[in-house]
Amino acid sequence: MTTRSLFLLPGDGIGPEAMAEVRKIIAHMNDADSAGFVTDEGLVGGSAYDAHGQAISDADMDKAMAADAVLFGAVGGPKWDAVPYEVRPEAGLLRLRKDMELFANLRPAICYPALANSSSLKQDVIEGLDILIVRELTGGVYFGEPKEIIDLGNGQKRGIDTQVYDTYEIDRISAVAFELARTRRNEVCSMEKRNVMKSGVLWNEVVTATHKARFSDVKLSHMLADAGGMQLVRWPKQFDVIVTDNLFGDMLSDIAAMLTGSLGMLPSASLGAPDAKTGKRKALYEPVHGSAPDIAGQGIANPIAMIASFAMCLRYSFNMVAEADRLEAAIAAVLDKGLRTGDIMSDGCQKITTAEMGDAILAAYAG
Ligand code: NAD
Repeated sequence: MTTRSLFLLPGDGIGPEAMAEVRKIIAHMNDADSAGFVTDEGLVGGSAYDAHGQAISDADMDKAMAADAVLFGAVGGPKWDAVPYEVRPEAGLLRLRKDMELFANLRPAICYPALANSSSLKQDVIEGLDILIVRELTGGVYFGEPKEIIDLGNGQKRGIDTQVYDTYEIDRISAVAFELARTRRNEVCSMEKRNVMKSGVLWNEVVTATHKARFSDVKLSHMLADAGGMQLVRWPKQFDVIVTDNLFGDMLSDIAAMLTGSLGMLPSASLGAPDAKTGKRKALYEPVHGSAPDIAGQGIANPIAMIASFAMCLRYSFNMVAEADRLEAAIAAVLDKGLRTGDIMSDGCQKITTAEMGDAILAAYAG
Protein backbone atom coordinates (compact mmCIF):
# COMPACT_ATOMS: atom_id res chain seq x y z
CA MET A 1 0.00 0.00 0.00
CA THR A 2 1.22 3.54 -0.79
CA THR A 3 2.22 5.52 2.26
CA ARG A 4 2.13 9.27 2.26
CA SER A 5 3.94 11.09 5.03
CA LEU A 6 2.50 14.25 6.49
CA PHE A 7 4.18 16.34 9.16
CA LEU A 8 1.68 18.43 11.10
CA LEU A 9 2.73 21.68 12.75
CA PRO A 10 -0.45 23.11 14.33
CA GLY A 11 1.37 26.03 16.03
CA ASP A 12 -0.36 28.56 18.23
CA GLY A 13 -3.73 30.21 18.80
CA ILE A 14 -6.40 28.87 16.45
CA GLY A 15 -3.79 26.78 14.57
CA PRO A 16 -4.42 23.63 16.68
CA GLU A 17 -8.20 24.14 16.55
CA ALA A 18 -8.20 24.29 12.75
CA MET A 19 -5.71 21.43 12.44
CA ALA A 20 -7.97 19.18 14.56
CA GLU A 21 -10.57 19.35 11.77
CA VAL A 22 -8.01 18.31 9.14
CA ARG A 23 -6.95 15.39 11.34
CA LYS A 24 -10.54 14.09 11.21
CA ILE A 25 -10.48 14.19 7.40
CA ILE A 26 -7.11 12.43 7.24
CA ALA A 27 -8.39 9.67 9.56
CA HIS A 28 -11.49 9.26 7.41
CA MET A 29 -9.46 9.08 4.20
CA ASN A 30 -7.22 6.43 5.72
CA ASP A 31 -10.23 4.34 6.85
CA ALA A 32 -12.55 4.80 3.90
CA ASP A 33 -10.22 5.41 0.96
CA SER A 34 -7.07 3.52 2.17
CA ALA A 35 -5.18 6.76 1.55
CA GLY A 36 -2.18 5.56 3.57
CA PHE A 37 -1.40 8.85 5.29
CA VAL A 38 1.20 8.49 8.00
CA THR A 39 1.24 11.53 10.24
CA ASP A 40 3.69 12.89 12.74
CA GLU A 41 3.34 16.07 14.70
CA GLY A 42 5.69 18.77 15.98
CA LEU A 43 5.82 22.18 17.58
CA VAL A 44 6.34 25.53 15.89
CA GLY A 45 6.13 29.16 16.92
CA GLY A 46 5.36 30.14 20.49
CA SER A 47 4.56 26.57 21.53
CA ALA A 48 8.01 25.47 20.33
CA TYR A 49 9.62 28.40 22.13
CA ASP A 50 7.90 27.38 25.38
CA ALA A 51 9.10 23.78 24.99
CA HIS A 52 12.58 24.22 23.47
CA GLY A 53 13.47 27.92 23.54
CA GLN A 54 13.45 27.88 19.72
CA ALA A 55 10.76 28.72 17.16
CA ILE A 56 11.25 25.24 15.74
CA SER A 57 13.59 22.55 17.07
CA ASP A 58 16.25 20.92 14.88
CA ALA A 59 14.51 17.56 15.36
CA ASP A 60 11.21 18.93 14.06
CA MET A 61 13.03 20.68 11.23
CA ASP A 62 14.52 17.30 10.22
CA LYS A 63 11.04 15.76 10.21
CA ALA A 64 9.71 18.59 8.05
CA MET A 65 12.56 18.06 5.59
CA ALA A 66 11.87 14.32 5.40
CA ALA A 67 8.07 14.46 5.03
CA ASP A 68 6.22 14.35 1.71
CA ALA A 69 4.35 17.46 2.84
CA VAL A 70 4.08 19.74 5.86
CA LEU A 71 0.73 21.08 7.09
CA PHE A 72 1.20 24.28 9.07
CA GLY A 73 -1.44 25.98 11.24
CA ALA A 74 -0.48 29.45 12.46
CA VAL A 75 2.04 31.00 14.84
CA GLY A 76 2.25 33.94 17.20
CA GLY A 77 0.30 35.74 19.87
CA PRO A 78 0.72 38.39 22.57
CA LYS A 79 2.25 35.85 24.97
CA TRP A 80 5.43 35.86 22.85
CA ASP A 81 5.59 39.53 21.90
CA ALA A 82 8.65 40.10 24.10
CA VAL A 83 10.73 37.02 23.21
CA PRO A 84 14.13 37.66 21.53
CA TYR A 85 13.85 38.52 17.81
CA GLU A 86 15.73 35.40 16.55
CA VAL A 87 13.35 33.04 18.33
CA ARG A 88 10.08 34.96 17.78
CA PRO A 89 7.25 32.68 16.57
CA GLU A 90 7.47 33.79 12.91
CA ALA A 91 11.13 32.69 12.84
CA GLY A 92 9.86 29.08 12.78
CA LEU A 93 7.93 29.65 9.57
CA LEU A 94 10.78 31.61 8.00
CA ARG A 95 13.23 28.78 8.80
CA LEU A 96 10.89 26.21 7.27
CA ARG A 97 10.59 28.30 4.08
CA LYS A 98 14.35 28.89 3.91
CA ASP A 99 15.63 25.39 4.75
CA MET A 100 13.04 23.69 2.53
CA GLU A 101 13.83 26.23 -0.22
CA LEU A 102 10.16 26.95 -0.83
CA PHE A 103 10.47 29.47 -3.63
CA ALA A 104 6.97 29.20 -5.11
CA ASN A 105 3.99 30.51 -3.17
CA LEU A 106 0.59 29.54 -4.55
CA ARG A 107 -2.40 31.60 -3.49
CA PRO A 108 -5.71 30.67 -5.10
CA ALA A 109 -8.59 33.12 -5.07
CA ILE A 110 -11.80 31.16 -5.49
CA CYS A 111 -15.25 32.57 -5.01
CA TYR A 112 -17.63 30.07 -3.47
CA PRO A 113 -21.09 30.71 -4.98
CA ALA A 114 -22.71 30.94 -1.55
CA LEU A 115 -20.37 33.77 -0.54
CA ALA A 116 -20.51 35.78 -3.79
CA ASN A 117 -22.75 38.40 -2.25
CA SER A 118 -20.40 39.04 0.68
CA SER A 119 -17.56 40.41 -1.50
CA SER A 120 -16.91 44.13 -1.63
CA LEU A 121 -17.20 43.82 -5.43
CA LYS A 122 -20.39 43.35 -7.42
CA GLN A 123 -21.65 39.78 -7.55
CA ASP A 124 -21.27 39.37 -11.34
CA VAL A 125 -17.62 40.50 -11.14
CA ILE A 126 -16.79 37.90 -8.54
CA GLU A 127 -19.15 34.95 -9.14
CA GLY A 128 -17.30 31.90 -10.45
CA LEU A 129 -13.87 33.47 -9.85
CA ASP A 130 -11.02 30.94 -9.83
CA ILE A 131 -7.55 32.42 -10.21
CA LEU A 132 -4.15 31.38 -8.92
CA ILE A 133 -1.37 33.77 -8.00
CA VAL A 134 2.13 32.29 -8.12
CA ARG A 135 4.47 34.50 -6.12
CA GLU A 136 8.26 34.16 -5.99
CA LEU A 137 8.98 33.72 -2.30
CA THR A 138 12.71 33.54 -1.60
CA GLY A 139 14.25 36.34 -3.67
CA GLY A 140 13.72 39.93 -4.70
CA VAL A 141 13.66 43.05 -2.57
CA TYR A 142 12.88 41.29 0.73
CA PHE A 143 16.23 39.50 0.66
CA GLY A 144 18.51 41.46 -1.73
CA GLU A 145 21.73 43.04 -0.39
CA PRO A 146 22.58 45.74 0.52
CA LYS A 147 19.68 46.05 2.92
CA GLU A 148 20.41 48.71 5.50
CA ILE A 149 19.80 52.11 6.96
CA ILE A 150 22.89 54.32 6.75
CA ASP A 151 23.57 57.60 8.49
CA LEU A 152 24.50 60.26 5.94
CA GLY A 153 26.03 62.40 8.67
CA ASN A 154 24.07 65.53 7.75
CA GLY A 155 21.06 64.81 9.91
CA GLN A 156 19.68 62.53 7.20
CA LYS A 157 19.52 58.78 6.99
CA ARG A 158 19.10 56.56 3.92
CA GLY A 159 17.07 53.34 3.87
CA ILE A 160 18.17 50.84 1.23
CA ASP A 161 16.54 47.67 -0.04
CA THR A 162 17.80 45.94 -3.15
CA GLN A 163 15.58 44.30 -5.74
CA VAL A 164 17.66 41.54 -7.30
CA TYR A 165 16.73 38.52 -9.42
CA ASP A 166 18.95 36.04 -11.27
CA THR A 167 17.90 34.20 -14.42
CA TYR A 168 17.48 30.83 -12.66
CA GLU A 169 15.09 32.28 -10.08
CA ILE A 170 12.80 33.74 -12.74
CA ASP A 171 13.02 30.61 -14.89
CA ARG A 172 12.03 28.24 -12.08
CA ILE A 173 9.09 30.30 -10.80
CA SER A 174 7.73 30.82 -14.30
CA ALA A 175 8.08 27.09 -14.98
CA VAL A 176 5.89 26.40 -11.91
CA ALA A 177 3.28 28.85 -13.22
CA PHE A 178 3.27 27.31 -16.70
CA GLU A 179 3.01 23.77 -15.31
CA LEU A 180 0.08 24.75 -13.11
CA ALA A 181 -1.63 26.57 -15.98
CA ARG A 182 -1.56 23.33 -17.96
CA THR A 183 -3.72 21.73 -15.25
CA ARG A 184 -6.17 24.66 -15.38
CA ARG A 185 -7.23 26.97 -18.24
CA ASN A 186 -3.70 27.08 -19.74
CA GLU A 187 -3.10 30.83 -19.44
CA VAL A 188 -0.35 32.71 -17.61
CA CYS A 189 -0.11 36.46 -17.12
CA SER A 190 3.32 37.64 -15.94
CA MET A 191 3.45 40.90 -13.99
CA GLU A 192 6.47 43.18 -13.40
CA LYS A 193 7.47 46.82 -13.81
CA ARG A 194 9.78 46.66 -16.84
CA ASN A 195 8.98 50.30 -17.61
CA VAL A 196 10.93 51.49 -14.55
CA MET A 197 12.93 48.54 -13.16
CA LYS A 198 15.87 46.64 -14.65
CA SER A 199 14.84 43.57 -12.71
CA GLY A 200 11.47 43.93 -14.47
CA VAL A 201 13.16 43.96 -17.89
CA LEU A 202 15.05 40.76 -17.02
CA TRP A 203 11.89 39.18 -15.52
CA ASN A 204 10.02 39.83 -18.76
CA GLU A 205 12.87 38.46 -20.92
CA VAL A 206 13.33 35.27 -18.90
CA VAL A 207 9.60 34.47 -18.64
CA THR A 208 9.35 34.94 -22.42
CA ALA A 209 12.39 32.70 -23.05
CA THR A 210 11.17 29.96 -20.67
CA HIS A 211 7.79 30.05 -22.38
CA LYS A 212 9.31 29.79 -25.84
CA ALA A 213 11.70 26.97 -24.89
CA ARG A 214 9.42 24.69 -22.86
CA PHE A 215 5.85 25.92 -22.56
CA SER A 216 4.80 27.39 -25.90
CA ASP A 217 1.47 25.50 -25.68
CA VAL A 218 0.45 27.76 -22.75
CA LYS A 219 -1.00 31.20 -23.56
CA LEU A 220 1.31 33.88 -22.13
CA SER A 221 0.57 37.58 -21.61
CA HIS A 222 2.50 40.33 -19.80
CA MET A 223 1.10 43.18 -17.73
CA LEU A 224 2.68 45.95 -15.68
CA ALA A 225 2.10 45.12 -12.02
CA ASP A 226 0.25 48.37 -11.26
CA ALA A 227 -2.11 47.79 -14.18
CA GLY A 228 -2.48 44.22 -12.91
CA GLY A 229 -3.67 45.55 -9.56
CA MET A 230 -6.33 47.63 -11.31
CA GLN A 231 -7.42 44.76 -13.53
CA LEU A 232 -7.73 42.43 -10.54
CA VAL A 233 -10.33 44.74 -9.06
CA ARG A 234 -11.99 45.72 -12.38
CA TRP A 235 -12.48 42.25 -13.94
CA PRO A 236 -10.55 39.51 -12.10
CA LYS A 237 -12.10 36.71 -14.16
CA GLN A 238 -9.84 37.65 -17.11
CA PHE A 239 -6.96 35.86 -15.32
CA ASP A 240 -6.12 32.19 -14.88
CA VAL A 241 -2.58 32.02 -13.42
CA ILE A 242 -0.64 35.18 -12.52
CA VAL A 243 3.12 34.91 -11.94
CA THR A 244 5.01 37.71 -10.26
CA ASP A 245 7.88 38.55 -7.94
CA ASN A 246 8.02 38.54 -4.17
CA LEU A 247 7.04 42.18 -3.53
CA PHE A 248 4.32 42.53 -6.17
CA GLY A 249 3.08 39.04 -5.35
CA ASP A 250 2.73 39.95 -1.69
CA MET A 251 0.37 42.79 -2.56
CA LEU A 252 -1.44 41.33 -5.55
CA SER A 253 -2.19 38.05 -3.76
CA ASP A 254 -3.69 39.92 -0.81
CA ILE A 255 -5.84 41.99 -3.17
CA ALA A 256 -6.98 38.90 -5.06
CA ALA A 257 -7.66 37.01 -1.87
CA MET A 258 -9.79 39.66 -0.26
CA LEU A 259 -11.99 39.84 -3.35
CA THR A 260 -13.50 36.63 -2.17
CA GLY A 261 -14.23 37.18 1.51
CA SER A 262 -12.80 36.36 4.95
CA LEU A 263 -9.23 35.52 5.94
CA GLY A 264 -10.69 32.34 7.41
CA MET A 265 -11.35 31.04 3.87
CA LEU A 266 -7.92 31.42 2.29
CA PRO A 267 -5.49 28.53 1.75
CA SER A 268 -1.94 28.63 0.39
CA ALA A 269 0.86 26.34 -0.69
CA SER A 270 4.61 26.87 -0.86
CA LEU A 271 6.63 24.56 -3.09
CA GLY A 272 10.32 23.88 -3.62
CA ALA A 273 12.21 22.52 -6.61
CA PRO A 274 11.53 18.95 -7.76
CA ASP A 275 13.99 16.40 -6.36
CA ALA A 276 16.39 15.26 -9.09
CA LYS A 277 15.75 11.56 -8.36
CA THR A 278 12.10 11.33 -7.29
CA GLY A 279 10.64 14.43 -8.95
CA LYS A 280 8.89 15.22 -5.64
CA ARG A 281 8.79 18.82 -4.48
CA LYS A 282 9.19 19.84 -0.84
CA ALA A 283 5.93 21.46 0.12
CA LEU A 284 4.26 23.33 2.96
CA TYR A 285 0.54 24.07 3.11
CA GLU A 286 -0.90 26.73 5.40
CA PRO A 287 -3.89 29.01 5.78
CA VAL A 288 -3.20 32.67 4.99
CA HIS A 289 -4.56 33.79 8.36
CA GLY A 290 -2.58 34.11 11.56
CA SER A 291 -3.19 32.68 15.02
CA ALA A 292 -6.17 34.98 15.71
CA PRO A 293 -5.49 35.39 19.46
CA ASP A 294 -8.73 37.37 19.81
CA ILE A 295 -10.82 34.25 19.22
CA ALA A 296 -8.38 31.44 20.12
CA GLY A 297 -9.59 28.78 22.53
CA GLN A 298 -13.27 29.54 21.96
CA GLY A 299 -13.94 26.91 19.31
CA ILE A 300 -15.34 29.47 16.88
CA ALA A 301 -12.51 29.81 14.32
CA ASN A 302 -13.25 29.04 10.70
CA PRO A 303 -11.36 25.84 9.78
CA ILE A 304 -12.05 26.19 6.02
CA ALA A 305 -8.70 27.86 5.15
CA MET A 306 -6.88 24.98 6.86
CA ILE A 307 -9.07 22.31 5.23
CA ALA A 308 -8.70 23.98 1.82
CA SER A 309 -4.91 24.02 2.39
CA PHE A 310 -5.12 20.25 2.88
CA ALA A 311 -7.08 20.04 -0.40
CA MET A 312 -4.17 21.84 -2.08
CA CYS A 313 -1.83 19.30 -0.48
CA LEU A 314 -3.87 16.43 -1.95
CA ARG A 315 -3.72 18.10 -5.37
CA TYR A 316 -0.10 19.26 -5.53
CA SER A 317 1.88 16.86 -3.33
CA PHE A 318 -0.03 13.63 -3.91
CA ASN A 319 -1.72 14.16 -7.26
CA MET A 320 -5.00 13.08 -5.57
CA VAL A 321 -6.98 15.33 -7.87
CA ALA A 322 -10.34 13.57 -7.49
CA GLU A 323 -10.11 13.70 -3.70
CA ALA A 324 -9.05 17.38 -3.77
CA ASP A 325 -12.01 18.22 -6.04
CA ARG A 326 -14.32 16.27 -3.73
CA LEU A 327 -13.06 18.07 -0.63
CA GLU A 328 -13.43 21.49 -2.26
CA ALA A 329 -16.93 20.52 -3.42
CA ALA A 330 -17.73 19.46 0.17
CA ILE A 331 -16.74 22.93 1.41
CA ALA A 332 -18.95 24.55 -1.24
CA ALA A 333 -21.86 22.24 -0.37
CA VAL A 334 -21.70 23.10 3.34
CA LEU A 335 -21.66 26.82 2.53
CA ASP A 336 -24.61 26.29 0.16
CA LYS A 337 -26.55 24.83 3.08
CA GLY A 338 -26.11 28.14 4.92
CA LEU A 339 -23.77 26.80 7.59
CA ARG A 340 -21.34 29.51 8.72
CA THR A 341 -18.70 30.22 11.34
CA GLY A 342 -18.94 33.70 12.87
CA ASP A 343 -16.46 35.37 10.50
CA ILE A 344 -18.58 34.59 7.40
CA MET A 345 -21.99 34.74 9.07
CA SER A 346 -24.79 36.47 7.18
CA ASP A 347 -28.55 36.90 7.53
CA GLY A 348 -30.60 33.72 7.31
CA CYS A 349 -27.61 31.43 7.86
CA GLN A 350 -26.89 29.11 10.77
CA LYS A 351 -23.93 29.93 12.99
CA ILE A 352 -21.83 26.89 13.91
CA THR A 353 -18.59 26.11 15.74
CA THR A 354 -15.18 25.09 14.38
CA ALA A 355 -15.83 21.43 15.12
CA GLU A 356 -19.34 21.53 13.64
CA MET A 357 -17.95 23.07 10.45
CA GLY A 358 -15.26 20.37 10.26
CA ASP A 359 -17.85 17.64 10.87
CA ALA A 360 -20.22 19.07 8.24
CA ILE A 361 -17.44 19.21 5.61
CA LEU A 362 -16.35 15.68 6.46
CA ALA A 363 -19.95 14.43 6.21
CA ALA A 364 -20.34 16.13 2.81
CA TYR A 365 -17.00 14.64 1.69
CA ALA A 366 -17.91 11.17 2.88
CA GLY A 367 -21.23 11.55 1.05
P1 NAD B 1 -4.90 37.09 12.12
O1 NAD B 1 -4.99 36.54 10.74
O2 NAD B 1 -4.49 36.15 13.18
O3 NAD B 1 -6.31 37.74 12.53
C1 NAD B 1 -6.88 38.87 11.88
C2 NAD B 1 -8.39 38.90 12.17
O4 NAD B 1 -9.03 37.87 11.40
C3 NAD B 1 -8.74 38.63 13.62
O5 NAD B 1 -9.84 39.39 14.01
C4 NAD B 1 -9.11 37.15 13.64
O6 NAD B 1 -10.01 36.80 14.65
C5 NAD B 1 -9.71 36.95 12.24
N1 NAD B 1 -9.45 35.61 11.76
C6 NAD B 1 -8.27 35.14 11.25
N2 NAD B 1 -8.39 33.84 10.93
C7 NAD B 1 -9.66 33.48 11.25
C8 NAD B 1 -10.36 32.26 11.16
N3 NAD B 1 -9.79 31.14 10.67
N4 NAD B 1 -11.64 32.24 11.57
C9 NAD B 1 -12.22 33.34 12.05
N5 NAD B 1 -11.62 34.54 12.15
C10 NAD B 1 -10.33 34.60 11.75
O7 NAD B 1 -3.88 38.33 12.05
P2 NAD B 1 -3.34 39.28 13.21
O8 NAD B 1 -4.41 39.51 14.22
O9 NAD B 1 -2.72 40.40 12.52
O10 NAD B 1 -2.18 38.44 13.89
C11 NAD B 1 -2.34 37.63 15.07
C12 NAD B 1 -1.06 36.85 15.31
O11 NAD B 1 -0.84 35.96 14.21
C13 NAD B 1 0.18 37.74 15.40
O12 NAD B 1 1.02 37.20 16.37
C14 NAD B 1 0.81 37.62 14.02
O13 NAD B 1 2.19 37.83 14.06
C15 NAD B 1 0.48 36.19 13.68
N6 NAD B 1 0.42 35.88 12.23
C16 NAD B 1 0.85 34.64 11.89
C17 NAD B 1 0.76 34.23 10.58
C18 NAD B 1 1.18 32.83 10.25
O14 NAD B 1 1.31 32.02 11.14
N7 NAD B 1 1.38 32.51 9.01
C19 NAD B 1 0.20 35.07 9.62
C20 NAD B 1 -0.27 36.32 10.00
C21 NAD B 1 -0.17 36.71 11.35
